[in-house]
Amino acid sequence: MSRSSALLLSLCLSIPLAASAAAAEPVLVIHGGAGVERRDLSPAEESAARAALRQALVKGHAVLTAGKPALEAVTAAITVLEDDPTFNAGKGAVFTHDGRNELDASLMDGATLKAGAVAGVQRVRNPILLAEAVMQHSPHVMMVGQGAEAFASSQGIPLVDPSYFRTDKRWQQLQKALKEEASGQAPVELDTARHFGTVGAVALDKDGKLAAGTSTGGMTNKRYGRVGDSPIIGAGTYADAGCAVSGTGWGEYYIRTAAAHDICARMQYLKQGPVEAGRAVINERIPALGGDGGAIVLSADGRAATPFNTQGMYRGWIGADGVPHVAIFASETLPLPGQ
Ligand code: ASP
Repeated sequence: MSRSSALLLSLCLSIPLAASAAAAEPVLVIHGGAGVERRDLSPAEESAARAALRQALVKGHAVLTAGKPALEAVTAAITVLEDDPTFNAGKGAVFTHDGRNELDASLMDGATLKAGAVAGVQRVRNPILLAEAVMQHSPHVMMVGQGAEAFASSQGIPLVDPSYFRTDKRWQQLQKALKEEASGQAPVELDTARHFGTVGAVALDKDGKLAAGTSTGGMTNKRYGRVGDSPIIGAGTYADAGCAVSGTGWGEYYIRTAAAHDICARMQYLKQGPVEAGRAVINERIPALGGDGGAIVLSADGRAATPFNTQGMYRGWIGADGVPHVAIFASETLPLPGQ
């Protein structure tokens, strides 16, 4: 066979393969944290939260429709939510016991299993962008505290004064938690309000590739350099070729159950769908241990699930028609792709 006919044959053979690999309809699913209750939100706060969720969806979806990778859509959506004071991530993060904001974030690329994470940063405006830099521009997966901030400076990632993250609402939540703790009223572990508002995103791009990311301030009144599940790959965030997950909730339980990875493992090995795998971990395993929270799950064929076991979870998705769909409370139905 001549070189040119061999080339022609290989082109003919490769075209159908390439076309089928590019068949995915882009989808983006986000959350803004589990644990929210109606009494937590004034009408103005509720509409601001819904608007922020829609804005994050539209921004991330524009990235996908421009043909860019899932990873970029995830960081675009999370950046919007980090910048919005409604959520417990970036500006508006919860306070530690000693009145600081210590931020955690992680990101994972399903196609390559590359991942980046940061924990306990106090001056990084958008921790998800630093997690991305760790993944793309370092040989490491996770950096913490001052070292992570030094790396941020070396990468030109914007740093801010720690006061940037402060909101009065979060400060008051800390004061309430401290008072309750001092009077022995509410043990930290029983108060859902101490861990809501984390943000996360999972995306499927036009090439059928998945990514997941999560960003948080952690839990109100946390101490001793406590790190939750959000920056831990396999606990709060996981993505592979078939599945992407971002979790939110009582982080210790997500770490102990390797929650995000467990959902993906169930999909891969047990052939469960996102709804079934999400339910097994979020509505069965975690509550059985005494934990609570939720997750967003997306499969490579575009099926999504948003399981949670609390009274609400800020959540939303956007698909082919470019219309953002959002919900907050458990009583709201949110029809999802593939369900
Ligand atoms: N999972 C986060 C943590 O434990 C908190 C949350 O999702 O609300 O740090």
